[in-house]
Amino acid sequence: RKQFSLQIQITQFGLDQKVMLVKDITERKRVETMRQNFIADVSHELRTPLTVINGYLEMLDDMELPPSLQKAITQMNGQGLRMKSLVNDLIELSKLESANTEQLGDWFNLQQLGYSVVDQLQAYSANRITFKCTQAIEIQGFSDEMSSVLTNLLTNAIKYGGEDKIEFSIRSGFDGVKVSISDHGAGIPAQHISRLTERFYRVDDSRESTVGGSGLGLAIVKHALEHHDTVLDIESTLGKGSTFSFIISSERSRVMEKD
Ligand code: ADP
Repeated sequence: RKQFSLQIQITQFGLDQKVMLVKDITERKRVETMRQNFIADVSHELRTPLTVINGYLEMLDDMELPPSLQKAITQMNGQGLRMKSLVNDLIELSKLESANTEQLGDWFNLQQLGYSVVDQLQAYSANRITFKCTQAIEIQGFSDEMSSVLTNLLTNAIKYGGEDKIEFSIRSGFDGVKVSISDHGAGIPAQHISRLTERFYRVDDSRESTVGGSGLGLAIVKHALEHHDTVLDIESTLGKGSTFSFIISSERSRVMEKD
């Protein structure tokens, strides 16, 4: 039995007229699935040889070697680690892309998750993160994906957010729970903002080449947030800094009563 994918769009004209457009997107879906499977397979295949190469490089890096060789080994070691993080990001992204988006996930404590992510990054950030979340808040979703969202957004604030404080807050409001991460860095030129969540998109490659990164972080964030029925909002002012935020709807969030 052959399966078809159809895209249906209904447009209302005036009060009593509607136009329905039905598009056959079977072929587009098939090609997209092939692309996703290809990336997933290649990145899995790369992981094993890379682990072996990196293991030996790390061992060599710890040895007493002639200075010229030492420099080469240190550089190879650095690039090897960069490749490992790229492959891991690719694997994470393909998992997110092929995940079943109909599931709602389990309830978990977002406040606790916030504290644990901050704990892991505080040393790397030179204690620049201030975290505010005064209530025990639970959300329904996937804690590993949410952990990755928070880690990616905070890591970006550390990398691109200058030397100032980074403000991370989780607050409950009338429309749900708002998570917000603000930095006081250089900001992002307006024309780039809508493209930041595309795979491999980086604002300025020459500038960023000194700051390690794959350009996949915000694509991962976007997909993980889709699984929580929400979107990433980005506000930025040049010279002042950027705020990355999202709202988890009140159907998927709740404040725990104090006992
Ligand atoms: P990566 O950090 O690996 O390059 P991301 O997808 O996480 O990839 O981010 C894409 C680009 O968005 C970054 O290369 C950077 O140019 C820009 N960016 C992300 N976060 C910030 C931020 N807080 N301030 C300024 N620019 C940012």
